[in-house]
Amino acid sequence: MRKGSKKSWKGVVPMELVLEDITKKYKDKTAVQNVSATLHSGQLIGLIGKNGAGKTTLLKLLSTILKPTSGRILLDGQDIVKNPNVMRSTVGYLPQEVSAYPNLTVLEYLSYIASVKGIKKKDAEKQINSLLADFHLENARGKCMGNCSGGMKQRVGIICALLGDPQIIIIDEPTTGLDPEERIAVRNILSRLSRERIVILSTHIVSDIEAVASRILLLQQGSLVFNGSPEELIAKAKGCVWEYMLPSLQENMKGISSMVQTEKGIHIRQVSRKKPWEQAVPVNSTLEDACLFVMEG
Ligand code: ADP
Repeated sequence: MRKGSKKSWKGVVPMELVLEDITKKYKDKTAVQNVSATLHSGQLIGLIGKNGAGKTTLLKLLSTILKPTSGRILLDGQDIVKNPNVMRSTVGYLPQEVSAYPNLTVLEYLSYIASVKGIKKKDAEKQINSLLADFHLENARGKCMGNCSGGMKQRVGIICALLGDPQIIIIDEPTTGLDPEERIAVRNILSRLSRERIVILSTHIVSDIEAVASRILLLQQGSLVFNGSPEELIAKAKGCVWEYMLPSLQENMKGISSMVQTEKGIHIRQVSRKKPWEQAVPVNSTLEDACLFVMEG
């Protein structure tokens, strides 16, 4: 049992990860600003934000690759900035850019990663076989990494993060390069794993995690602008999503959620507190509308 852990839950020790007023500056650039949140086992957390919002920086802070400029990160009450091994012994992290080992086969690569993680050979074999099956990669075990498709490499990367059965799983943009079927498979596996773990996935594509996230953290220019359930986020934009047709585009249109050219004109979906156009009709909000609504302030 980890030091500081109090009670057992379904045979697994539940964890609490607390971010206390985290700020990270790169010289004069503030990438993450005063972020506070408390995360628990049993959650699949979707970290959403546009490119440059600070997602990768925040994930690197949680994985102890970076140190915050100020603030504390506590895992079950232990400061992971002062004691990074507390986190390192329990986290599986897949960065956005994974090192390439083109000459190693998938099996050799996974065995190598398992040995770096200190997993015994027999356990490693068992875990690798089971994960290769989960990710539909059994037939790729003898394939050189250099000959694998982007989707295959991404799935191999996720397997690396899962080797050693980490209790905290952090994956930066997990569905990059995956086809729709692979996306669903990966999402379902991570969703299953999150029942007893903390799983954090970052994405700039809201629909990627819409179906599985139980918690949303929305980052905008380094600040946390929403922290709650997907339902709470959707409720924020209730009554503020509109659809209408326009003959042509207007200047300075804000809050455009989608825009589709049709034979009759341009079909607009827009988030706005006020009715944006005479013929606009209110429609139900999606998570994507709600993210836009919150970010547009
Ligand atoms: P995201 O993952 O949401 O795209 P990042 O965390 O990569 O965002 O970046 C957040 C901000 O910090 C961006 O403005 C980016 O340019 C800047 N940034 C990231 N890494 C560095 C770095 N090593 N040095 C300076 N600025 C950086």
